[in-house]
Amino acid sequence: MLSEKMENALNEQINAELWSAYLYLSMAMQFENSGMSGVANWFKIQFKEEQAHAEIFMNYINQRGGRVILKPIAAVDAEWASPLDAFKATLAHERKVTAMINNLYAIAESEHDYATRDRMAWFVNEQVEEEETAQQLIDKFTLIGNDGMGLYMLNQELAARTYTAPSILAAE
Ligand code: MG
Repeated sequence: MLSEKMENALNEQINAELWSAYLYLSMAMQFENSGMSGVANWFKIQFKEEQAHAEIFMNYINQRGGRVILKPIAAVDAEWASPLDAFKATLAHERKVTAMINNLYAIAESEHDYATRDRMAWFVNEQVEEEETAQQLIDKFTLIGNDGMGLYMLNQELAARTYTAPSILAAE
């Protein structure tokens, strides 16, 4: 059984993951509108990934006999100056998410709730990838600057991203 503190913290994380989904969907819509459909595609897949993260938390709470409570999703920004700006915002946001996941891990550990701690370990690793990917894209867009051909090619590269369900969800 989950402690009340653990259950509340996991429910907060569902909200944070859904907020992340909403943030990336907002980015996708801006770049769709500004003709960078590859960048939009990348963020649309990120939107799906964040929904999957929320689903993993929901499934986990249910598995442990807890109660999922969905809270209002706060508003997100609608404008970023450039893809570089959006990926900088992505990295800053993912760093906050990493801190939240680390906090969940710490709560689980302090309560000797090893099942939750182990589930959080998956997210700890996932966050390493999220931050690395955002940093790599910041590096690429920084390198290209305002070079039109470079932007065209990187947009094409991001158009190739496809969605794969996270291993935990695929196994459930
Ligand atoms: Mg996430």
